[in-house]
Amino acid sequence: MCRRLYERGLIAGQDGNVSVRIAEDRVLVTPAGMSKVDVRTSDIVELKLLADREVESKGSREESSEVEVHLAAYGVRPDVHAVIHAHPPTAIGFSVAGETVEHPLLAELKYGVGTVPLVPYEPPGTRALADIAAEFLRSYDVVLLEHHGAVAVAPTLLVAHQRMESLEHAARILLVARQVKGRAN
Ligand SMILES: [Zn+2]
Repeated sequence: MCRRLYERGLIAGQDGNVSVRIAEDRVLVTPAGMSKVDVRTSDIVELKLLADREVESKGSREESSEVEVHLAAYGVRPDVHAVIHAHPPTAIGFSVAGETVEHPLLAELKYGVGTVPLVPYEPPGTRALADIAAEFLRSYDVVLLEHHGAVAVAPTLLVAHQRMESLEHAARILLVARQVKGRAN
């Protein structure tokens, strides 16, 4: 999944993180400080969830610094078993412009993604970001983090990926539509 995100241009450098909930109190997550294209099975970190948002980590590496968003999402969504955080460039461009990716008739968005709220900016890796993102993820499957990236949640990793991919695809279509319209005026 890491390689797929990288190959589709949804992450670059050390961007992004992927997790799967394998039991009520256990989550597998990608490591900190690695380009996701290089991640191997042995790099994956297993987290045991303890009380008061503490975790016990098992593995040769440290867990992603942005894992709090994933854990907060699992906390508010019992139906969710996979979380993907990526930096889809066109969709982020919308968020940098203070907008979200929306169109009432675009099939990618309507059926694959749903409404995508824009989560107000909080610094990456902070509990404040995890808390505010989780508030939105209670009601939505995909959110845009202002000036930062996107989070997609789903019952499975494949569906979370499809949602992330569809978000970026829709953003590109909407961007082209604006350019064409701009030229026509
Ligand atoms: Zn990020």
